[in-house]
Amino acid sequence: MKIPNLKNNFSQSFLDTTLIEQRLGIKTFSSVARWYLEEICDIIIKKAVDKAREKHPDFLIGDSHVHTYHSDGRKSVKYCVNVAEKRGLDFILITDHLGPFYPIEQLIKSITDQRIIVENDNKKIKLLPAVEISSIKGHVQAFFPQEYYSEQYFSKLEKLRYWESLDTKGPSLKEIFKSINDIGGKIIIPHPDAMGILKPKKRYGVCPELIKEYKDSINAIEQYNSMNPDSMNLEYDITKLGGSDSHLNFDIGSCFSAVENKGDLFDSISYGKTYAYAPVFFSKHNKKLLNKAIWTYMTISKKLNPNVYFD
Ligand SMILES: [Zn+2]
Ligand SMILES: [Zn+2]
Repeated sequence: MKIPNLKNNFSQSFLDTTLIEQRLGIKTFSSVARWYLEEICDIIIKKAVDKAREKHPDFLIGDSHVHTYHSDGRKSVKYCVNVAEKRGLDFILITDHLGPFYPIEQLIKSITDQRIIVENDNKKIKLLPAVEISSIKGHVQAFFPQEYYSEQYFSKLEKLRYWESLDTKGPSLKEIFKSINDIGGKIIIPHPDAMGILKPKKRYGVCPELIKEYKDSINAIEQYNSMNPDSMNLEYDITKLGGSDSHLNFDIGSCFSAVENKGDLFDSISYGKTYAYAPVFFSKHNKKLLNKAIWTYMTISKKLNPNVYFD
């Protein structure tokens, strides 16, 4: 089989499902497997969302951590929003990466796609502008009021992009927190204390000591994150959320939060009482099934193209 040279365009090739499937020769199998996983997740997640709604009838229920093909996810913003809506979620935060492999231009494309949906689609589901920023001390998520759906605000984040390959190690956590707070954003610490799945020595989650040190600048932590189940047992006296960290995008809503409704989504996540849920990954059977799919996908992508970088 002829393997095309992907070196100059690895990001695009990574996103091209067809290319991966053709090279594996399992196009049909892969499509059926994806359809099957989506169907299973539709049923499990919708049921869990309905159950949480019974418990917290006036709360907003949503997934605060989803990636699209504008960073290392697989599908479009529109696709992710539609899946979230189908599963009964009230909100979704699309948190595409800003980091060594993800420039500000990519992030602005994601923000623009979201803005178009918010302005034109008349959807019931709510969105807020958000981002996941890489730092050597771990990832940091930020979310902003809805009026920040604009290039004008997001281009201000460019200085926070961390360039792994250069001498400089990028801005410190303190600088990142300050810059986000200065432009009116709130901070979530995703997958606290997590180390890399493909790169076990690489730190992805901010460590407990630093979370405690910067507690006053942090709005919430992710109690549940589907990609890093080990983070689940950490206990902090701080607002807790559930985020799927969905990259394959069939697992949107696999972790979610019920957030006290303060009228506006930004205020609700910032100041409301929250309850985090991990419906899919709490069942041993589901966890095994979905983790296997995620692992297979990541391993295959890595084998096909060693340049693929999972952030
Ligand atoms: Zn992350
Ligand atoms: Zn993430």
